[in-house]
Amino acid sequence: MRSILLVLLVFISCNSKKNLHKSDAENKYNTSVVETNGALSIKGNKVVNNKGTEVSFAGNSLFWSNNYYRGNGFYNKHVISSLKENWNSEIIRIPMTADPDIHDSYLFDKETNQTKLEKVVDACLELGLYVIIDWHSHKAEDNEQEAINFFTEMAKKYGHHPNIIYEIYNEPLKVSWDDVIKPYAISVIAAIRNVDPDNIIVVGTPHWSQDVDNASENPIVGYKNIAYTLHFYAASHEKWLMNKAQKALDNGVALIVTEWGSVEADGGGEVDPLSTKLWMDFMRKNKLTHCNWSINNKDEGASALKPNTNTDGNWSDDDLTVSGKLAKKYISSWTN
Ligand code: MG
Repeated sequence: MRSILLVLLVFISCNSKKNLHKSDAENKYNTSVVETNGALSIKGNKVVNNKGTEVSFAGNSLFWSNNYYRGNGFYNKHVISSLKENWNSEIIRIPMTADPDIHDSYLFDKETNQTKLEKVVDACLELGLYVIIDWHSHKAEDNEQEAINFFTEMAKKYGHHPNIIYEIYNEPLKVSWDDVIKPYAISVIAAIRNVDPDNIIVVGTPHWSQDVDNASENPIVGYKNIAYTLHFYAASHEKWLMNKAQKALDNGVALIVTEWGSVEADGGGEVDPLSTKLWMDFMRKNKLTHCNWSINNKDEGASALKPNTNTDGNWSDDDLTVSGKLAKKYISSWTN
């Protein structure tokens, strides 16, 4: 009896060692971008990893979280896992609809929108991806208290994870940086920093997040790890917008491109491959992190997927639009 037990013990011990070695080997090949880079911070005008090395990441923005063109059907783990495996995406942006003019936004249906958002955040945590929690509004200053409450809740729930980036205002319209956006941003940043001392916070800039130069002339001081939002659509925004971005960088602020498209600024029109290439070169040179707008099958130029494409991921190249194919090419070959 004793010898049978001994044999059994040796067998179990050998097997558990084998399993340990196997999972070590698997981990070596599956190390996630967050395991490799850890908590991000801002140093000068760059994003750096936990070793202080300048880094930039490429990935995707999802579509609005409300029922707008059913883009929220893509808010699931299969999609996120597929973007990681097949597109080499390292960062996912979740544009949670928080606009006062949209009847099923977070402001009117907190539970549905937040549940969808959290499902994607949890998938990103599990898969080791960076994730941007975006207050997707064009009028965030009208709902400052709601934004404070939301981000306080997010910071309490997720602020200890290195994966998280807070984006507190998607695209302000033609409003003043000094008098409207900056005061809003300082209130929301103060609320987040009451809970979470360190994760990066990205602040929207005037004129659909184009006037980064304007923000850089009067930046937010007194808080660390603050970056500014730059959005570009390559068919509409050419050298003049790149010059604004360059000016902001020269003024010493860090930029994150939480949204870009290869088409026109309204999401329609044709892909402009040449302008897109110039922007990619610019982002590579300046180490800008970026997310392509967007993962949806709405019938418009900016959608990465053709109409009726499934919402489960693992798409074939035939499922991708011209813009989707170009985005996949740049994202999958980005890496640090
Ligand atoms: Mg933190």
